[in-house]
Amino acid sequence: MSDSNITDSFDVPLVLEAVAWLRAAVGDRLAAARAATGGVWQLVDAIPGSGPWGIQADYAHAHEAIASWGADGGGIERRENGAHIEANAPGRIIADAEFHLGLLNLHTPQQQNILRWVDDGWRSVPFVTCSHCDLGDPYQTVWMGYPCATINHLFHAHRHLPGYRPQYAPLPATPPPGAPDER
Ligand SMILES: [Zn+2]
Repeated sequence: MSDSNITDSFDVPLVLEAVAWLRAAVGDRLAAARAATGGVWQLVDAIPGSGPWGIQADYAHAHEAIASWGADGGGIERRENGAHIEANAPGRIIADAEFHLGLLNLHTPQQQNILRWVDDGWRSVPFVTCSHCDLGDPYQTVWMGYPCATINHLFHAHRHLPGYRPQYAPLPATPPPGAPDER
């Protein structure tokens, strides 16, 4: 790693590993969402036999119970948690994952060689930059590296998924004003 806070884009294997991890992690989310019951998930009152509220999928002209109110391990106790499940219905996760894969397909790592002072001379060394953000200006390209800001944010957004390494996205994505504590 370099002594800057930016991913060392001269470490080509690390950059490629990071991108492969992110693509696989997003792919896993997509596959899990596609395997779940589709349709519209709704938090509704009074599903028969499910207590005061529950979540059902309106799928293929039929209703499927997804979760229900409960306590002592028998279901979801807090309605807010039920609302969160509803908000993360498979269709929404699929849309998010497709968007993220689209960003990855747009901002692909681009390998090239650039001149770098190594030991006591200028040498042509491997380097990775972003195929979308690299404007072709050698004076910018040299310092742009990978991940670009967009993909860095994407890495940061997936930091809770298994296999994430902090060096994949060393620049913390800037939290919005008034953002709550780190989760
Ligand atoms: Zn980019």
